[in-house]
Amino acid sequence: MRHVAVIGSGPAGYYSAEALQKLYGDGVSIDMIDRLPVPYGLIRSGVAPDHQSIKAVYRRYEKVALSHNVRFVGHVTVGEDVSVAELLDLYDAVILATGAPHDRPLDIPGADLPGVVGSAAFVGWYNGHPDFAELDPPLDVGAAAVIGNGNVALDVARILAKTRAEFAGSDIAGHALDALDSSSIRRISVLGRRGPHQIAMTPKELGELGHLAEAEPKVDLVDFPPAADDALLEPGMRKSVTHLRDFAHLPGGKRKTIDFDFFAMPVAVEGNGRAEHLVVERTVLTDDLRSVGTGERYQVPCGLVVSCIGYQTPPIDGVPYEHGRGRFANADGVIAEGLYCVGWARRGPTGTIGTNRPDGFEVAEKIAAAFPPGSAGGKAGGLGLDTLLHARGAEPVAFRDWQRIEAAETGRAREGSPREKFTSIADMLAALGRR
Ligand code: NAP
Repeated sequence: MRHVAVIGSGPAGYYSAEALQKLYGDGVSIDMIDRLPVPYGLIRSGVAPDHQSIKAVYRRYEKVALSHNVRFVGHVTVGEDVSVAELLDLYDAVILATGAPHDRPLDIPGADLPGVVGSAAFVGWYNGHPDFAELDPPLDVGAAAVIGNGNVALDVARILAKTRAEFAGSDIAGHALDALDSSSIRRISVLGRRGPHQIAMTPKELGELGHLAEAEPKVDLVDFPPAADDALLEPGMRKSVTHLRDFAHLPGGKRKTIDFDFFAMPVAVEGNGRAEHLVVERTVLTDDLRSVGTGERYQVPCGLVVSCIGYQTPPIDGVPYEHGRGRFANADGVIAEGLYCVGWARRGPTGTIGTNRPDGFEVAEKIAAAFPPGSAGGKAGGLGLDTLLHARGAEPVAFRDWQRIEAAETGRAREGSPREKFTSIADMLAALGRR
């Protein structure tokens, strides 16, 4: 029997477990360790609450979780309750699938002013992540700025723009729904440091902005290259850019606007004790499509700034780390003997949920090559972990415990919503009768 510990129970973790099951059959025992008492990582806390069809992929992970040779070991923090070195002693292989839950810092003067938040925090807030439930972003302001031209920027702009009715069927956290419902934000500026042909937004997500009840996207066609140049784009990008161009022909007149501001590089946040406006520098593109400032500056009013400029993986003591790229130092998923990484912890924060599947398979194959299926093991595995955690007073949450938390979340859902998440670890544990 071979023993594998997967750290993190998001998509990358579950695809790795699924791949290991395929390669080893019953010859492997897999522990999925998560800091939270609840599984699914980014699916629960990152994917937008109004994108339930994307979130539905958790059903696939649930099947893996319910197999006899996979355990969920929740509410256990690697680096605190148990070290990576200890796990390497207990398991044949350790896979870091910790994602990239931290914001890449917005490195401009004034970024520490109240009213400036990163997307990890803002997205975590509306998704009910315990780390960010108390964020309380300022929504009593007239305007917000969303920095970045990726899908996260789109999610944030859309969530800020939607009405209460448009959240029907979503699992947005109740505190966020109420706060957004009384928001006074009417103008949402989405700032890209490059142009419409350099966006990282996918067509379906961009298209949604054209159908909001009380908000309308706005673009200035002056920012666009000649329409004929769109033919040079790959089909997905071409569709996205077509959506953007179409926004120029919307009738207007809605209460809120989502203003796309291209060639716009934020250089400072200014305000009297809180964010009041962004100082933005106009940019142009170099021949190799980088953005450079022109020296022309202007102000964008905003009492809320959400920086959506990418994520990074938090380092773990003793694990080599690539600071520039915000991920573990690795060669095709291998960090060191017995230590692997997958997903965003391996590649950095790029790609869709599905990208993690081949990624997990590739690493599982490397593990199978190093520890061939059928070969003798001899490591203590989960039993050893249980002994160690018990001695330290840790109280892990098993998958069947999570299912009780899930039932309680379903039971307290508002009408039409799949669940009302618990937004603190204490409340999750209280649902299990633990105090
Ligand atoms: P992303 O796609 O990498 O976009 C980051 C954006 O931030 C880019 O427009 C980038 O501009 C900009 N940026 C970076 N540094 C900047 C700076 N210092 N100043 C101004 N702008 C800066 O990242 P993301 O939006 O966080 O998304 C992460 C991944 O999750 C992506 O693969 C995304 O597709 C995926 N995702 C998918 C969905 C969905 O499918 N519904 C939803 C959310 C996220 P440059 O291009 O100029 O660097």
